Amino acid sequence: MSGGWQGSDRKARLPSGWDRIRRMVLDRDPTCQICGVRPSTQVDHVRPKADDHSHLQGVCYPCHKHKSSSEGGKASAEVRPSRQRPAEKHPGWKE
Ligand SMILES: [Zn+2]
Repeated sequence: MSGGWQGSDRKARLPSGWDRIRRMVLDRDPTCQICGVRPSTQVDHVRPKADDHSHLQGVCYPCHKHKSSSEGGKASAEVRPSRQRPAEKHPGWKE
């Protein structure tokens, strides 16, 4: 046996074919799916523990960082069933 091959311990925790899936997602979502402005450079998990790449989306670094930092509070403030107030003009708004 030749000792030319060295097993790399890098990406040992990533699932097999992750790099390929990541490329597919970035190719599918060239633009950030959150802000829709910046080019997506990272892959974000829409659902935790998702094996299918359909649960992945391409995002840019700032949005991914912001989302991961605000994770935990599952948008409880925006899911209120209360009716939305119609857009009212401010009292001082004259035209
Ligand atoms: Zn973004």
